[in-house]
Amino acid sequence: MAKILDGKRIAEEIKVELKLEISELKEKGIVPGLAVILVGEGVASQIYVRNKERVCEEVGIFSEVHRLAEDVEEQEILDLIAQLNADDRIHGILMQLPLPPHIDPQKILSAISPKKDVDCFHPENVGRMFLGEPRFLPCTPLGIVEILKRYGIGISGKKVIIVGRSNIVGKPLAMMMLQKNATVTMAHSKTENLKEEALRAEILIVAAGHAGLISADMIKQGAVVVDVGINRGSDGKLSGDVDFPDVSRIAGAITPVPGGVGPMTIMSLMMNTVKSAKGINNI
Ligand code: NAD
Repeated sequence: MAKILDGKRIAEEIKVELKLEISELKEKGIVPGLAVILVGEGVASQIYVRNKERVCEEVGIFSEVHRLAEDVEEQEILDLIAQLNADDRIHGILMQLPLPPHIDPQKILSAISPKKDVDCFHPENVGRMFLGEPRFLPCTPLGIVEILKRYGIGISGKKVIIVGRSNIVGKPLAMMMLQKNATVTMAHSKTENLKEEALRAEILIVAAGHAGLISADMIKQGAVVVDVGINRGSDGKLSGDVDFPDVSRIAGAITPVPGGVGPMTIMSLMMNTVKSAKGINNI
């Protein structure tokens, strides 16, 4: 049976480390601050924002949530961002996505000061990450790299297959894995033989948003499997993109859903906010 890569446990470990780091910062008069902007009433977004607020409180990060109506004008969001960019209490600004269709997400994300862009979505920060000189690393990929590191799973020289090419997970993760000397293959919805690609993976990372996409016959014996997917079934239960019960009989290690990558993503946001408060992003 595969070893369970327990993201929840690792996130708790990081939480303890962050609390200590934050209390040391507070002794120097620095209180890390995160501003979250939430537009509309989307249920999933409300839950994500509430979780972020809760974890901020647990680790000692000051947080404020700006809730805007679904029909808000783009300019109103831009004005709020300008105000937060200039606010010394705020070290990180997070725009909760998705935005309503009348708002251009790229315009909004580009308005956030790159020095407060703790999600790493600003084109300048994406470019820096690409060049291997990151200011911040994007939260979900950072969480994945961190969980592998803390379980002692080496990346250098490994055959890493990433399923999914989104701007928030697949693409930046591929770049980060490449910089850690993996041999990276990206698979996506147009990939012709996903099974053949997946079977070559020593580390298989799946971020497609498609429940049951990866079955046991697609796994190389002993492979490390990281399941990023979050899918809600008709019974309300969460599952990943990987058929967990069968795949865990063949894989060497696997992240569960829930309790795998999800808790690590929130911790990355906390780590980036603390990094920003420390001024390590001041490059
Ligand atoms: P997305 O929804 O923007 O895109 C999905 C990607 O998967 C695309 O690149 C597409 O080419 C690929 N894909 C879709 N169907 C496929 C198929 N049948 N075969 C191969 N590739 C296929 O991606 P996203 O925003 O990265 O989200 C992916 C999943 O990860 C979602 O379930 C999302 O909820 C989850 N997610 C989880 C976290 C977390 O913290 N755990 C963070 C971000 C996203």
